[in-house]
Amino acid sequence: MIKLPGLIDPHVHVREPGQTHKEDWDSATQAALSGGVTMILAMPNTKPPIFDASTLDIALDAAKQKARCDYAQFIGAGPDNADILPNLASKAAGLKMYLDSTFGELRLDDMTLWMPHFEKFPKGYPIVLHSESRTMAAGILFAALYDRPVHIAHISLKEEVLLIKAAKEKGIKVTCEVCPHHLFLNNEDLTGLTYGRREVRPQLGTKEDVDSLWKNMDVIDCFATDHAPHTLTEKDSDNPPPGFPGLETLLPLLLTAVDQGQLTMDDIIQKSVINPREIFHLPEQPETWVEVDEHAEYEIHAADQFTRCGWTPFEGWKVKGKVRKVVLRGKTAFEDGKILAEPGSGENIRK
Ligand SMILES: [Zn+2]
Repeated sequence: MIKLPGLIDPHVHVREPGQTHKEDWDSATQAALSGGVTMILAMPNTKPPIFDASTLDIALDAAKQKARCDYAQFIGAGPDNADILPNLASKAAGLKMYLDSTFGELRLDDMTLWMPHFEKFPKGYPIVLHSESRTMAAGILFAALYDRPVHIAHISLKEEVLLIKAAKEKGIKVTCEVCPHHLFLNNEDLTGLTYGRREVRPQLGTKEDVDSLWKNMDVIDCFATDHAPHTLTEKDSDNPPPGFPGLETLLPLLLTAVDQGQLTMDDIIQKSVINPREIFHLPEQPETWVEVDEHAEYEIHAADQFTRCGWTPFEGWKVKGKVRKVVLRGKTAFEDGKILAEPGSGENIRK
């Protein structure tokens, strides 16, 4: 049995408020704990989106009642909320900006709408960018122009990891995360699945992209799941929403990579605990750890998972390394497949 610190997942779609048939603060945090994740940072593109004081209260009220692991909630940048967000910064995980096409209230049509957010959001709080390919290059230019840190969500392409590497070498304050599905899958995998079940944003990269991410692992600051649960009915519909669940497969996949010599245990601790803590200014969780049986081999099955969405792109995968027990702030929160933490026992780490 090995003991790890509780993992931090800086990119989770909890789906509450608004889409609790996919997930809510209860099911998402159960999925987190069973995957060895003791702190999640929740994304703001809910229904309604979290983009002002009242919507932030809606999300934090639900989390307070239901969350079983620790958490913080991002606020989302919109075309006309740059003036009100600085006052909310201390209550939020950080500011999330969707720089590529998105819909509704978080849509930022052109770069003039990015400027007030970069000018006004306090420099001590993180800005996370959903920005792919050349949009990411524009986001890094903003980090340089405004001399403030930005964190690039879910990088997936060779050109992205190489540009971030070059930017870091120039001293630009940029960090990044990669999702397990962009490390362990390429666009030629999952061919046995329906079209909808292969839909994810960013899309899966080519084999060359995936190889480049592995080759430049030292450039990648964090592992993040981008846990994005949608039901199977939705995924198999004519208009499937993009996204994969990932909270429960993150650590088993990483441990399997350690077993195969692709990663070290230190990589996991660095990119899932130490770096996210530093980038997002997160507190240490006292008396918190994860016990893992590094020799246990098993198959991933959606039927064993706590996420409400009912599927996983890694169905049937053989992995080595099983989460046996999770202790959160001195209390056993998960043990041998059972959630023991009560709803509401999770703490808002920005309080
Ligand atoms: Zn996301």
